[in-house]
Amino acid sequence: MTFDNLGLSADLLATVEREGYTEPTPVQSAAIPLILAGRDVLAAAQTGTGKTAAFVLPILEILRHHSNTGYSPARHPVRVLILTPTRELACQIAAAVKTYGRSVPLRSTVVYGGTRIDPEIKILWSGVEILVATPGRLLDHVGQRTVNLSQVEILVLDEADRMLDMGFIPEVRKIVGHIPAKRQTLLFSATFSDDVRKLAGEFQTDPETVEVAPRNSIADNLTQVLYPVDQSRKADLLIHLIQRDSMEQVLVFTRSKIGASRLAAYLDRRGVSTSAIHGDRSQAERTRALEAFKGRFVKVLVATDVASRGLDIEDLPYVVNFELPYEPQDYIHRIGRTGRAGASGTAISLVSPDEVDELRGVQRLLRKSIPCAVVEEYLPDPNREPAPAARFGGGRSGGQSRSPRNGSQRPSQTFAAAAR
Ligand code: AMP
Repeated sequence: MTFDNLGLSADLLATVEREGYTEPTPVQSAAIPLILAGRDVLAAAQTGTGKTAAFVLPILEILRHHSNTGYSPARHPVRVLILTPTRELACQIAAAVKTYGRSVPLRSTVVYGGTRIDPEIKILWSGVEILVATPGRLLDHVGQRTVNLSQVEILVLDEADRMLDMGFIPEVRKIVGHIPAKRQTLLFSATFSDDVRKLAGEFQTDPETVEVAPRNSIADNLTQVLYPVDQSRKADLLIHLIQRDSMEQVLVFTRSKIGASRLAAYLDRRGVSTSAIHGDRSQAERTRALEAFKGRFVKVLVATDVASRGLDIEDLPYVVNFELPYEPQDYIHRIGRTGRAGASGTAISLVSPDEVDELRGVQRLLRKSIPCAVVEEYLPDPNREPAPAARFGGGRSGGQSRSPRNGSQRPSQTFAAAAR
């Protein structure tokens, strides 16, 4: 399959080639022709599958006949609205619109909370055809009448499952109330839960469904490994692994914001340059942390699941699960940050004895067990009940933990058996 027969014009094909994309990803080959045909599309595709280009490229193609160089804002009404749950994802999509849209003279911008609204208002007043937004901030603009959505022709709901999780649907509903009912609606979601299907029923008309193989079945270039370790010794094991394998550019996931801050501070104190990105930090702080990581000024970026949505960091070689996520699907999201677009990657999970249930959930989803590696001096002590308040938090109830079931076995064997 090549990009040539998807229905895109020569200039967009040239852009794609310049980006170094030799062939469309599965979600691109399936979704692009449907979107160009004007269909509503309900697509199950995770971050890392090329889903952004799957909707941005056909949108640019559809909109190109509206492109004009007129000065009047009236000549540049919002025709496409892309709603997405997080600021990072919004920025990433906005950047993709600029990149892919280099040859198409359409105006685009992005609005999101946590920053000053005035600069956004100025840009909106001058007119933009493509608007990327997080729901809350867009509603502010709607309330202040600084944006008019009455000419929107295409609505994209990106990461719909995450918008549900984050409780954004009432806001989305209000926003959709300001958009014409006659429109094309594209809904992207990592999963097709019943709730996502209900949303599709509410916002879409006779959608065509696109499902691509989830990343867990296609990431041959991704090595997964788990290390059994007590919760309280995870940070030291992490430092050990970083030093032993001379790791650079390590993205570490923690379950909680406080855990992320504490771990980042600890690693930094121990001489491993680290920054953290989570929901309690201001937009400026998050941007600075991300830039420091991308620019390789720090080795480690510690993130929570929510804050990590939409992080697109090229060539990320290592992802570390400092704790396994409660939701197995989040494991897939996390490891999707490495091994992207053919590059090789390693996903490391530091798993304490009280995480056997989470491990079982992840392995059930993967339909295979994660190979277990051992650093002898960091193996969990089978005879010791882990400390009630683990240093970096993460256990469900303040770090209260269970011992492995069979104290006489090697912990790695216990893990493998217990998680089966
Ligand atoms: P996304 O799933 O939209 O977050 O995209 C994941 C990454 O894949 C981004 O870095 C894109 O630049 C890249 N990408 C998108 N489409 C292709 C393609 N057809 N071939 C190779 N890389 C791609």
